[in-house]
Amino acid sequence: MQLQGITRRHLLAAMAGAGLGAALPVRAGTSTQSPPPAPRRQDSIGVALVGLGYYASHLLAPGLQLTRNCHLAGIVTSSPEKVPAWQERHGIPDRNVYDYDGFDRIADNPDIQAVYIATPNDLHLPLTRRAAAAGKHVWCEKPMAMNAAEGEAMIEACRRNKVQLAIGYRLQHESNTRRLMAMARDKPYGKILKVRADAGFHAYDDVDPAAKPWRLLPQHGGGAMYDMGVYALNAARYTTAQEPVAVTARQEIHRPHLFEGVDETMYFTLEFGDGLVAECATSFGKEMNTLRIDCERGWYEMAPFQTYDGLKGRTSDGQVFTDTGVSPYQQARQMDDDALAILQGTAPLVPGEEGLRDMRVLDAVYASARGGGRRIVLA
Ligand code: NDP
Repeated sequence: MQLQGITRRHLLAAMAGAGLGAALPVRAGTSTQSPPPAPRRQDSIGVALVGLGYYASHLLAPGLQLTRNCHLAGIVTSSPEKVPAWQERHGIPDRNVYDYDGFDRIADNPDIQAVYIATPNDLHLPLTRRAAAAGKHVWCEKPMAMNAAEGEAMIEACRRNKVQLAIGYRLQHESNTRRLMAMARDKPYGKILKVRADAGFHAYDDVDPAAKPWRLLPQHGGGAMYDMGVYALNAARYTTAQEPVAVTARQEIHRPHLFEGVDETMYFTLEFGDGLVAECATSFGKEMNTLRIDCERGWYEMAPFQTYDGLKGRTSDGQVFTDTGVSPYQQARQMDDDALAILQGTAPLVPGEEGLRDMRVLDAVYASARGGGRRIVLA
């Protein structure tokens, strides 16, 4: 993995060279300009990563080498064979290593203040409940849960235990995306008329149907909509600064031997009222990564809009805006923002309620698709 084995000092130097330091915020969700990378603060939040899979290994752990408000303090894993390499690479002491059965003992560990859940989607609720009951702040990956009812239960568990709940929508911490969010409010090209948001990729051709990964299994929250569709859905909401009032959806399956009970490609339309519509698509069978906003007096778009770096925006009057960092700067910024919110006692930039709004729409997308494209009105 590209960044593993590189020291924090090397990364900070590389960040400064790439302009990455300028992408890290001084305050949660604010500036695009900030001082060069500073040393880690003394009251830095200790984070335990739960589920040492792709995202934790390749993005979150390297991201935690770049953060100043938080650091990797512990791991929770069901795979004992992963432990020695993680301990050695990240200097994690035995007392901060947990398996899932022993996870609740984390309550007694003062090294760890926040738990970052990066497991299959069906485990987000049970692990959130356990982390909150242990008195730890919860950072949880997207999609927040399997459905809105689970999302509500996660919010309630964290509220009851007086811990924060932040959802891992890394893009909402990223300056180009935040520019689109500001344009949704300021409307520099007049009224927004239409949004197009597509997020997907082609994969899984070589999967043995008898040994499917969890992303192809319904009981784990598999399917393109949960995995990539939330990027399109979330983008449709943050580029309009509005909530959809009705949803229609239809799914397509071209590889039925792989996609049983999970969606391969989903097309969904979000109606926002006043004629504003977002046409969205997501897929595990097609490459797609475009976000376009058509307005009364022009348009703007970002393509790609949801990669880890290399984001590119442009407008109808010739403005261009691009990335300010290299991967994993988005994850570092997100975790630094979320840690600062804990340290300052302020609300996280992307709280559980934001994840829940997507889950409510996502429930409607599935209900519409399963109901033959029936129009679902959202309460
Ligand atoms: P992986 O399959 O690579 O890793 C998931 C890990 O969860 C496993 O390695 C394992 O870790 C643990 N796990 C626990 N129970 C199971 C189980 N029954 N089956 C499989 N794994 C299990 O997934 P990703 O890392 O790609 O995704 C994890 C989460 O992160 C998902 O919610 C996904 O949507 C999200 N994600 C977010 C991204 C973003 O950009 N924000 C990008 C990629 C993923 P262990 O062996 O240590 O227990």
